Formats: sequence, structure tokens, C-alpha cells
Amino acid sequence: METKDILIKDVQILDAHGPRKGSVLIEDDKIIEVSPSIDPGGVDRVINAHGKLLVPGFVNTHTHLSMTLFRGVADDLKLETWLNEYIWPLEAHLNGEYCYAGALLGCVEMIKSGTTTFNDMYFYMDHVAEAVKETGLRAVISHGMIDFDDEEKKKAEIKESKRIIKKCHGMADGRVKVALGPHSPYTCSRELLEEVRSLADEHGLFIHIHVAETKDEVRQVKEKYGERPFTYLDEIGFLGEDVIAAHAVWLSSSEIHLLKSRGVKLSHNPTSNMKLASGISPVNELINSGLCVSLGTDGAASNNNLDMIEEMKIAALSQKIKNMSPTALDAGTVFKMATINGAAALGMADEIGTIEANKKADLALINTKRSHLTPWRNPASHLVYAASGCDIETVICDGEILMENGKLKSLDEKYVIELAESAAEDLISKA
Ligand SMILES: [Zn+2]
Repeated sequence: METKDILIKDVQILDAHGPRKGSVLIEDDKIIEVSPSIDPGGVDRVINAHGKLLVPGFVNTHTHLSMTLFRGVADDLKLETWLNEYIWPLEAHLNGEYCYAGALLGCVEMIKSGTTTFNDMYFYMDHVAEAVKETGLRAVISHGMIDFDDEEKKKAEIKESKRIIKKCHGMADGRVKVALGPHSPYTCSRELLEEVRSLADEHGLFIHIHVAETKDEVRQVKEKYGERPFTYLDEIGFLGEDVIAAHAVWLSSSEIHLLKSRGVKLSHNPTSNMKLASGISPVNELINSGLCVSLGTDGAASNNNLDMIEEMKIAALSQKIKNMSPTALDAGTVFKMATINGAAALGMADEIGTIEANKKADLALINTKRSHLTPWRNPASHLVYAASGCDIETVICDGEILMENGKLKSLDEKYVIELAESAAEDLISKA
């Protein structure tokens, strides 16, 4: 991989600040100038981007990357059946090699669809970190902890989390960060959640957790602790600005108020929530309440892809139905969820999520001269409602070109597909 000056010339720019035309100059890992015109003299590499759209690399705030290996193995099932009878038995046979192969495949899929940063919770996370390092992406990773009130299991989960923090936090020139990943309030003991809170405080780490995904989870938590999930988490002192909660489908109005006052960040996962019939999160209301709501695909076993452009469309459409109003969650708002809100949810709003000087050069270029994007009129509308991840042509992360004109630069796509195919075959034959 090479690092040098790159000029993206005469491009249509779209970020949270709106659409504009200009040129973008990159030096090393950063954007150093965004202006209506920049002199290409002395620049190593000029990308003539007339007729193209430049967006910030998407930020996928809830994934389980290695689950790409389970794509299509269990569909059209209830969450409980899906987890208990298919996913958990398969996961019992996972190892570092399989997780690496699945993560590598997921990284390729994300680069090809314009995602440059993701928030991942799963197992064998040092192997996932290795895939991130090799592919050039940016990620926050956490070991998914489940103890089901078993003291020994709790100790083992905390030990593994500490090992991952020590081994991977700050890896790959800082592109890999580690967070704490307690799975959910119904699969983790109160003691585990309390330990996670003190570890987060001690090390200054984020917490990534699933909360209020299904009605049944709310029932279980109420039965066991006498409160709804977020209220219970607050009572044990767990909630804070460093918590990013995935799903958040079933919320009471007092919980919404609580989330706002504690500064909790959310990851909305509409495809997974619809596929497992978990419900539709009241995102429109959450955003109107001033909460930071970002967007995530969830794992490929419940989506079944990692395409953030498709996720934006599904987020917008599902809110219109939930509110029975076509004005709910407009294209511009959902685009912010997939970019700057994702950055803010991960505590990186100063570094990524928009296209401006001093931010990291994490960018995706789209060819607008396509039949389904013609006539080229409204960039946010076309991106959300007409485009798909396949329209992404060139991707830059941390100032490195990871894909150019559809061709991966950092790795061999054919090799990754073969590696993942054989890992999936091996794994599924064991379960
Ligand atoms: Zn999930």
C-alpha cells in the first residue's frame, strides 16, 4: 500500500453539510484542503472525478463480521429459534481461523459497498483485528460476552476481553480500537455488567451492547429485575455517554427520556429487526428527541448483507410505515445517520464522518453516470433511494486507496471468497 498526496478533482461532494462542488486534497492519512478548485501541481496522484459523487466512508455501528460465514444458513425463523437452534450451535464450533476468514470476507464486502469504519462485536477478535489491519479499514472491536449468571463463565469472558484490549487496542496505526461487548441485559449477569462499567471507566473504553431488541427481552428483564431493560441498566449505573446500544426497538417514553439524559448512543438496525420480526424502532421520535441515532447492518446472518446504502433505504422506508407518514426520516437525515452520527456514536466525530480539512481521509466515490441514477438531480435522494452498494467505485481509508474503479488494491478478492467458502463449508459440516 502506498501513502502519498492524492487530489480528488472537480467532484460533487455530499456530507452532513450538504451538497457542493469542489476538489479534495489528501496528504498521508488526512484531508488537508477542500476548496472549489485546487492546483494539481506537485500532487502525486490526481483522480479526475468529474461526474462522480464523493461521500464520507459509511460508518456501520453494529456488526458481527465473521457471521458472514452463516449467510443464508438460517432464514425466516423467530429470533429465539434462530439463536438457540442454528446460530449458537454453529458458534460453538468457531475458532480463530474461521473468524478470520469470515471477517476478511466482511471487510471485502464493506470496502466494495463504501463502508470504511465499523463497530464489531463477536469472538476471536484478535483474528478480526488482523483482518482489519490487512484490509486497511477502521474498526472498533469488542469480545461478545455472555455468562448466563455463571460465575466461572463471567470470569472467563472478562479475562478474554482484557486479553483483547491488551493485544489489539490501538493496533494498525490506531485504526483498531477495542470496546467492551456485553451481549445484552438478558444474557449477561448484573455482576458482569457492573464489572464492564468499571472496566470502561478504568480504561476509557466504549461499551457496545444489544438492548430492547424484542418484546420478549423486555418481558424477561422485567420478570427478573422488575424493570424494563434500559431502566434496569440505569439503576445499576451502567448507562453513560460511552454506551452504544444496538436495536433499541421497544422503548417506553420514560426510557427515551433516560437515554437522552444519560447521553446513550444508539445503533438502528432496521433490516435485521424486520427480518426477525423484532419490530421497528421509533427512530423518528428518537431523532426528534435529540438522541444520536446511527445505522448498522447487524450480522450477515440476519440481514443478509453489509450494504449501508440498502440499510439507509430500509431505515427511511420503515419509518414512513411506522409513522404512516411519508415525511418521516427523509433522505438527508438517514444519510447523516450512516455517516456523521455513526462517527459521533463511536466518539470519532472530530476524526471521520464528514469531508473537511483535518479529518481522516475516509471517502467513497460513486459513478453517477448510471442509468438508475439518471437524471442526476438530488444527490441525497439518489444515494438513499436509487443507488446500491454496487455503485461504489473507489474507496479510500486513512488516506490509502483500498479500491479503485471496483478493483481491490489491498487484497485478492478471489482468494478471500475461496477462503471464506471453504471455512463456511467446514464449519457447517461440524454443526
Ligand atoms: Zn447484533
